[in-house]
Amino acid sequence: MKGVYIVGASGSIGTQTLDVIRENSHLFKVIGLSLGRDLAKAKEIIEEFKPEIICLREKKEIELSYKPIIVYGDSGLIEIAKYKKLKEEIFVNALVGISGLLPTVYAIKAKKDLALANKETLVVAGDLIKQLIKENNVLLTPIDSEHSAILECIYGENKNDIKRLIITASGGSFRDKKREELIGVTKKDALNHPNWSMGAKITIDSATMMNKGFEVIEAHYLFDMPYEKIDTILHKESIVHSMVEYNDGVIKAAIGSADMHTPIAYALKFPMHEHITNKNLNLIGLNLHFEELSKKRFPCLEYAYMAAKKGGVYLAVLNAANEAAVKLFLDEKIEFLDIEKIIYDEITNDSYKDIEYNLDNVIDISYKIINKIIERYGK
Ligand code: MG
Repeated sequence: MKGVYIVGASGSIGTQTLDVIRENSHLFKVIGLSLGRDLAKAKEIIEEFKPEIICLREKKEIELSYKPIIVYGDSGLIEIAKYKKLKEEIFVNALVGISGLLPTVYAIKAKKDLALANKETLVVAGDLIKQLIKENNVLLTPIDSEHSAILECIYGENKNDIKRLIITASGGSFRDKKREELIGVTKKDALNHPNWSMGAKITIDSATMMNKGFEVIEAHYLFDMPYEKIDTILHKESIVHSMVEYNDGVIKAAIGSADMHTPIAYALKFPMHEHITNKNLNLIGLNLHFEELSKKRFPCLEYAYMAAKKGGVYLAVLNAANEAAVKLFLDEKIEFLDIEKIIYDEITNDSYKDIEYNLDNVIDISYKIINKIIERYGK
């Protein structure tokens, strides 16, 4: 039995992870869960999986049929990360935003393997996290269709033979719009993703293409690849989840239907393919298309490479500016095109360049920038 902890368990990735756990109850035992504000939903999940430790967002009464340890808020997430029950344990981080970083750090220190859906962890603190993983000798697997696909394509291969990673992008909810047609688009338009059903933050990040920028940065850390060897390509069908091109011209692609259960199961049971899906891909009559993913049309992708090139705390700056801007857009305080302007202003701000890159500083600067931007535009 492997002990499982899921933070962000009532979100989109969290509930799909619970589906995978449910069908593998002979292998996994849920020990700890953090749940969102919807207490009815939380209660339903808790009563089904009966975890020993639960983290709720805020202090509220919850009536349960048994007596688990109940902790609250951000400090509660850390208590879940530190909790230890079984010899072999895996920590699934399905939180959205910078608040996912510290739970990852503590989970690694508690020698838990890590299945990572929280993008901000590697974007903001990739070098620091990799160092911790090495020191504590834990396994990191990605929960993301693109990185899962790349892992499929490079498993067992020699890294020196790789010419480049090719990350596919569906294009998000505004992929068929020209830049000038983005003026005045609404939150409702932006949340309507053509292929994937995801949380609100990541759906907006897909529409701006910042999500793809983050995935480039994550791939850099996950697969030890220089940025020059990481490309992106527009692929509207979301059938090819990503590719790896080798020096001999072979391109390996992982293809399949768009179902997050598959990458989740692969992350939990790596390198096994034991998940049984009912969404098998029908190859007959399949038409696949690839187009250039333009950094002019999607400047946020360019900004991600820019911040990565600057390095140090600038990746935290990139993430914080994006996090604040997306929140403001979802709260209908700013226009869609303001998101990229806010990000550009921050990553080209030289006042951050002397800040030393360490965990305390990346967290500190992240919250300072988020609060500054929310205050400036949030009125
Ligand atoms: Mg993805």
